[in-house]
Amino acid sequence: MTAVHMLRKLKQAGLINPLCRVNHLLMTAALMLAGCTLAIAPNSAIAQDDSDQGPAETFSEWRADFTDRAVAKGHDRAVVENALADITPLERTIELDRYQPEFVKPIWSYLDGAVSQSRQTTGKERLVEEATLFDALESEYGTDRHALTAIWGLESAFGVVIGNTDVFAALATLAWDGRRRDMFENELLAALTIIESGAANRDDFVGGWAGAIGQTQFMPTTFVAYAVDFDNDGRKDLWANRGDALASAANYLKRYRWRLGEPWGVEVRLPEGFDYAMADGRKLTVREWTNQTVSRANGRPFTETDLDLSARLLLPAGATGPAFLTFHNFDVIKYYNNSTAYALGVGLLSDAISGRPGLVHDWPRHAEMLTREDVESLQATLARLGFDPGRPDGRIGPNTRKALRAWQTANGLPADAFATKALLTYMRTQL
Ligand code: CA
Repeated sequence: MTAVHMLRKLKQAGLINPLCRVNHLLMTAALMLAGCTLAIAPNSAIAQDDSDQGPAETFSEWRADFTDRAVAKGHDRAVVENALADITPLERTIELDRYQPEFVKPIWSYLDGAVSQSRQTTGKERLVEEATLFDALESEYGTDRHALTAIWGLESAFGVVIGNTDVFAALATLAWDGRRRDMFENELLAALTIIESGAANRDDFVGGWAGAIGQTQFMPTTFVAYAVDFDNDGRKDLWANRGDALASAANYLKRYRWRLGEPWGVEVRLPEGFDYAMADGRKLTVREWTNQTVSRANGRPFTETDLDLSARLLLPAGATGPAFLTFHNFDVIKYYNNSTAYALGVGLLSDAISGRPGLVHDWPRHAEMLTREDVESLQATLARLGFDPGRPDGRIGPNTRKALRAWQTANGLPADAFATKALLTYMRTQL
């Protein structure tokens, strides 16, 4: 998992668009290449950056300089030197960090993998195996076992795929490479703190290509802030100890105020002629949504408790795909990993392993997604038609979405801001 601080920095820098799944989904292929699972978080670090000039100093110069600065901040010189000894920049980490895929992978492709049959089966098995542990975690942290299991499944295939990269080498590579030096130097400092605290040893630091650690894929800063020694043996073993790992994830969810027993969301049905522009992130109570004749997709009524919940309408694949009302816990999952696709993956996988039926509506699998070039063309076309999408950057962010909704409304189309090849083709006929 990526440290929330890192995500915030990326968000502030405009490098992650919270409403845009593009970066995360696109990374799946790279993750698989990297031997990772569908966990997306460490790759939130993969952000587009215009300054692509590479490091200004040699790796040895950076290492000597960083060592002095780490010692000046109070770290033990012997620990720092030992941690950074014998490491060289990792070419693959730089390649993956700079990877900018051409195609936007549709959300259903991501979810097919995230909520695969084998992941559901293994999740159900782990739930039974670790029932005692989950009982303890639910009572101590107030987190639901199904959500925890789903996060565990997505982050590391239930602890099986935890990466094989030297974490210090990965973090040092990304710090030296320089595009986000402060962020990755902070991660290195946190990793040193972990060693100095005795929670883990230098040799434990094996993880994802961008430095994420263990069964929960915590970045070191997240480890420092939230990792738990659940079995009280003096170590926070997120690599091999399920109790430590899952308690750490539970502790993280608790920190973002997970609500035990409250659903993450629910699939809904929208009435004919619905104003799709309402799926713009606004929050209404479920009661208010039902006043807009939004109903549960399975035809059952909302419970009295659910009616009072505050909810957003989510249309991950536009007007012809499934629609969801998402609740507080959905936002908490996004604190774990700021991706709508990831949060939906966790939600749907947690439903599946708790025995709930799958989606009522299927995805619009025939829809063709846009390439980066297509998105730039879409933005240029919107601008020429008088709907300002902001700076054309090849990414569908809030401004593009807003302009797209306005254009759709003006043309009597469902204002779902779901951009496909067919939509772009039609838009071009308006020029
Ligand atoms: Ca422990």
